[in-house]
Amino acid sequence: MQQFLPFTKEDALSWAYDYPTPFYVYDEEAIKKCASDLYRAFAWNKGFKEYFAVKATPTPAILRLLRQFGCGADCASIPELMLAEASGISGTDIMFSSNETSDKEYRAAAKAGAIINLDDITQIKHMEDSIGIPETICLRYNPGEFNITNEIMGHLFDSKFGMTKEQLFEAYKLLKEKGVKHFGIHAMLASCSIDNDYYPGLAAELFRLVVEVKEKLGVQIEFVDLSGGVGIPYHPDEKPVDIFTVGKGVHRVYDEIIAKNGMELKIFTEMGRYMTGPYGYLVTKVIGFKHIYKEYVGVDATACNLMRPAMYGAYHHITVLGKEDEELKLKADVVGSLCENNDKFAVDRLLPEIELGDILVIEDAGAHGHAMGYNYNGKLRSAELMMHSDRSVTCIRRAQTARDYFDTLDVDREFTENIDRMFEND
Ligand SMILES: *Cc1c(COP(=O)(O)O)cnc(C)c1O
Repeated sequence: MQQFLPFTKEDALSWAYDYPTPFYVYDEEAIKKCASDLYRAFAWNKGFKEYFAVKATPTPAILRLLRQFGCGADCASIPELMLAEASGISGTDIMFSSNETSDKEYRAAAKAGAIINLDDITQIKHMEDSIGIPETICLRYNPGEFNITNEIMGHLFDSKFGMTKEQLFEAYKLLKEKGVKHFGIHAMLASCSIDNDYYPGLAAELFRLVVEVKEKLGVQIEFVDLSGGVGIPYHPDEKPVDIFTVGKGVHRVYDEIIAKNGMELKIFTEMGRYMTGPYGYLVTKVIGFKHIYKEYVGVDATACNLMRPAMYGAYHHITVLGKEDEELKLKADVVGSLCENNDKFAVDRLLPEIELGDILVIEDAGAHGHAMGYNYNGKLRSAELMMHSDRSVTCIRRAQTARDYFDTLDVDREFTENIDRMFEND
């Protein structure tokens, strides 16, 4: 089954005139609708905020777009903090997710006024030595095992994130003594879950802890951060999450556990994939074929542009523009030009008959796509375009050039002059 996309072959070819393939294109209206629906689904909660996980799509145009709906940013490095601040997101609209955090990073997060989400109890001393004790702090929990609807969602014993329940209680107690005024709790117990019960199940687990922490320690937790991990249907057979069902599910357990105990708290999320994943596309051109023991379709994108299939065999649906209605007669691997045999966007994929110059769209690439780009084999990272409602595009990140690639090399004068001469002759 091929899918009809929000743009046509003519659109893609006209964009490619200015921005040669491969390039990323994001659907602005669809991202806006996603953010707006999320805020509607959680409108029952007064302090609701989505801290967009910057690592998913670290592009200012996307951060600014999401900011219009009230989104903050979840950051984990100094450049991500800079990106958020320069995009107009500041102070407590930034969550800093620590984990093996350096002094420098603590100082940058404190300077930005971000909320620090502490990964471990041993980090308390480290943080105190770097920046003192902040007024607000969030603590990351790892329950070891997590069940929803009697199904085990994740074995978290070998996850490096978060602290045990015992450590969590000890940390709240210690931090209260040290003068912290506002507390939060955070956990991320799944990755790419398309189960509508994931957030409600996680929320219930955290809400119960909030009640227990209050009873045992007299510490009132003010916000619950459900983190990311909400998935998208990469495969056409999968069903998307219904965010309104999710919002209602969280509301139900909130009433049962929090409201019933006469408490009130803010709900935060840190979704990345869910916010932009389905609305970004990697557009690539067919540049060759091979007929050996199998059929191969060669494209001008490589795993350097989209690493997920090569890294963990992730499925990405592929549509051949202009051939959406055609019969799927060809079974082939869709491959890039890296000298690595895992450089395959699809293996044994059924496709319509393909000709040189056809435009293939690799779907659901809007999160953890361009962001994971790399330069192996001297391949350059592609441009990112924003498609507006009239299907015109704005370039929101130009393609990397060979100049950029050589920028960090500071060998000696001879090397620099050799490189400069090559660019002059170009
Ligand atoms: C990666 C990450 C997210 C976002 O995850 P998605 O699967 O993209 O929703 C949110 N919070 C933290 C702490 C993360 O590490």
